[in-house]
Amino acid sequence: MILQNYIGGEWVDAKTTKTEIVYNPATGEELAHVPISTKEDVDVAVQAAANAFETWKEVAVPRRARILFKYQQLLVEHWDELAKLITKENGKNFTEAHGEVLRGIECVEFAAGAPTLMMGKQLPSIATDLESGVYRYPLGVVGGITPFNFPMMVPCWMFPMAIVTGNTFVLKPSERTPLLANRLAELFEEAGLPKGVLNIVHGAHDVVNGLLDHKDVKAISFVGSQPVAEYVYKRGTQNLKRVQALAGAKNHSIVLKDANLENAATQIMNAAFGSAGERCMAASVVAVEETVADEFIDILLRKTNNIKMGDGLEEGVFLGPVIREQHKERTLQYIEKGIDEGARIVRDGRNDEKNRDGYFVGATIFDEVTSEMKIWQDEIFAPVLSIARVNDLEEAVDLANQSRFANGACIFTKDGGNVRKFRETIDAGMLGVNIGVPAPMAFFPFSGYKDSFYGDLHANGTDGVEFYTRKKVITTRWV
Ligand code: NAD
Repeated sequence: MILQNYIGGEWVDAKTTKTEIVYNPATGEELAHVPISTKEDVDVAVQAAANAFETWKEVAVPRRARILFKYQQLLVEHWDELAKLITKENGKNFTEAHGEVLRGIECVEFAAGAPTLMMGKQLPSIATDLESGVYRYPLGVVGGITPFNFPMMVPCWMFPMAIVTGNTFVLKPSERTPLLANRLAELFEEAGLPKGVLNIVHGAHDVVNGLLDHKDVKAISFVGSQPVAEYVYKRGTQNLKRVQALAGAKNHSIVLKDANLENAATQIMNAAFGSAGERCMAASVVAVEETVADEFIDILLRKTNNIKMGDGLEEGVFLGPVIREQHKERTLQYIEKGIDEGARIVRDGRNDEKNRDGYFVGATIFDEVTSEMKIWQDEIFAPVLSIARVNDLEEAVDLANQSRFANGACIFTKDGGNVRKFRETIDAGMLGVNIGVPAPMAFFPFSGYKDSFYGDLHANGTDGVEFYTRKKVITTRWV
């Protein structure tokens, strides 16, 4: 089966014969072929979106919101089906996929508040008999480019809010997990979304460049790896577009000697190995105070040894595969590199992955990792956790702040003073206290800074409303 693009409310073949295989990473089975669409496909989609904008922008905001209420209902009704599809194309276990669907639904619920979120402000008296007010309007056609690791949640950070605020949208899903996007579009159509308001063009860099260069695309939302985020931000802004580009991460968890070590180990095990480490909020480094390091590692190992690896649709499986064979090979190279660099491997996941069809790497833990090592510096995006031993909170924060990334960071402690010091000194956009994955919910902004984010307004929350709208200020004298 070759997937089709969704343009102007119709399912159409891409203008290309070039395709890539979409695999189930747990089995290696072929699920579909995805077209590697061309700039011409983008042009047709942007034209359809531009045409739809002319009428969609005139639809009253509460009416637009009502379609989102219906969409929310349909997503809830199809929850299990959507989660199963996520597990099939991405590999994360069914429980995590179920959670991802919830995260997507929450974005739709937040966006359905558009009548309130889009309100302007007035000042009835700026001078004698003079008043001023600000009104909010959509931008036009918006492009969204998404990664493989959250095929539902990340697109839902973008198109529900963009659309409810009156824009029309062209989505380019990851070519490695493109199936869910089509289902999201079908359900949105069923909810009553007019033709051309949401469009999907499948493919890779030609589609991305087509969106970045198109004069009628007013803004770009991107989520993906750091080099591509930087490229998208530079090219998009050079073309005078509004761009938000969320990028890679290397999230540090700090475990202090007064922490509840059982809780810290449970949270960190989940955050490091959940979704096979393929989360921008994954725990990838633990900075643990030397005096409790051995005890913490013992508990972490005990918990990690209980992990069941396999197809995420099987009962009890926690650790699924990584996304592709090449990604598995890259991960194994990082494990080799860690050993060569002198880190102490305390759990070698390579022992778990023999005789399997899918792209499995077992949970791997390194101790005695330092900031000179590549395994500390690079985002591995796989179930590989680095532990660094530190003498105190200051040293832990200093280590985390040396990273080029600044997405998330967590602290495990019972001391409020330590929490405050951590909050005030750490370089990261999303912080957690005694929890492992501090991913903000839809009504808060999501993102970090440094090389984890390029742009100004983050995804979600009122940042999302700001990003997808522009303002007019009107000053009136009543004479
Ligand atoms: P990726 O950068 O490979 O792909 C992301 C998108 O960019 C895809 O749609 C892909 O087709 C496109 N793309 C890839 N290479 C391109 C190129 N050379 N030119 C133009 N477009 C290109 O990322 P991925 O592997 O799909 O996703 C994982 C990455 O995403 C990780 O680095 C992860 O940290 C990051 N991520 C970040 C966040 C966040 O909130 N900061 C959230 C989720 C994922």
